[in-house]
Amino acid sequence: MTNVIYGSEISKSYRDAYKKTIDLLRLQGKRVPKLSVILVGENPASISYVTGKQKACASIGMESDLIKLPSSTTQDELREVIERLNIDDQVDGILLQLPLPSHLDEQQAISCIVPSKDVDGLTTTNTGYLYQNVDGFVPCTPLGIMAILEHADCQIAGKRAVVMGRSRLVGMPIAQLLQQANATVTIVHSKTQDIKQITRQADILIVAVGKAKMIDASYVKEGAYVVDVGINKVDGKLVGDVDFEDVLPHVTMITPVPKGVGPMTICMLLSNTLKAYMENQYERYSI
Ligand code: NAP
Repeated sequence: MTNVIYGSEISKSYRDAYKKTIDLLRLQGKRVPKLSVILVGENPASISYVTGKQKACASIGMESDLIKLPSSTTQDELREVIERLNIDDQVDGILLQLPLPSHLDEQQAISCIVPSKDVDGLTTTNTGYLYQNVDGFVPCTPLGIMAILEHADCQIAGKRAVVMGRSRLVGMPIAQLLQQANATVTIVHSKTQDIKQITRQADILIVAVGKAKMIDASYVKEGAYVVDVGINKVDGKLVGDVDFEDVLPHVTMITPVPKGVGPMTICMLLSNTLKAYMENQYERYSI
């Protein structure tokens, strides 16, 4: 029988554990972890993501604040805001909500974030750590996907994994994590030819392309583990990149959209912020 893995369910045990840690810090009279989120402009999807992240922080007793900047913000003004947060002892994690308005350079802005507060794992330093297998901050969605596969008892070592998509936020880092877990990994993208012939060999198929219901049963190997990262709005409803009903009868495990990868992404943001707090606290007191 197919195992449908709800990130919304499995994230609860993680959050309970984080809440216990923060409750204990409060009991001990210590400062609690804090996430600062920067939102530039009025993108409705971004506003909704940011609200979700703030609610998640509140649910475990983590502090958060939202720095809302107008869409006319300049690169220098954004850099100044980030630099202020970099040196603020009360702030553990900095999250710059993407995408930025088109006149702003995303990579330039991200590179202003001090790596020790880069809880989205997007700075060049943290990317370098990931590819050198050194401890650092890994982007939240790939971390969430690994937690889902672990929860589903998926034995990754020796398996053939195919990652659809090569973004720096999802595709590239999840390919790296799967490779580090000893899968044999193939990445496919928009220029790949005969994609089906490749995806049909995947024991583990990670789909992160942003095309509603692109993947039907004809792309999938019988018995595969399928993780659907995509979030697409069709007729006002959220759907994934995978045609869930079509693929479901053929696989060992699948994640739904919504309630699949999304909640685990937020959960891993909490985890990364807690990690930043622990490491930064340790550094402050050990100097
Ligand atoms: P992205 O930066 O737009 O990257 C999409 C990738 O898919 C690109 O590498 C692109 O190839 C590839 N692609 C596009 N069309 C393709 C096709 N027909 N066949 C094969 N590959 C194709 O997107 P992203 O940030 O990785 O996000 C992907 C999806 O996941 C989106 O729906 C996004 O909303 C969702 N997402 C969800 C979460 C979550 O928490 N659930 C988190 C992040 C993103 P090229 O490189 O050749 O252009």
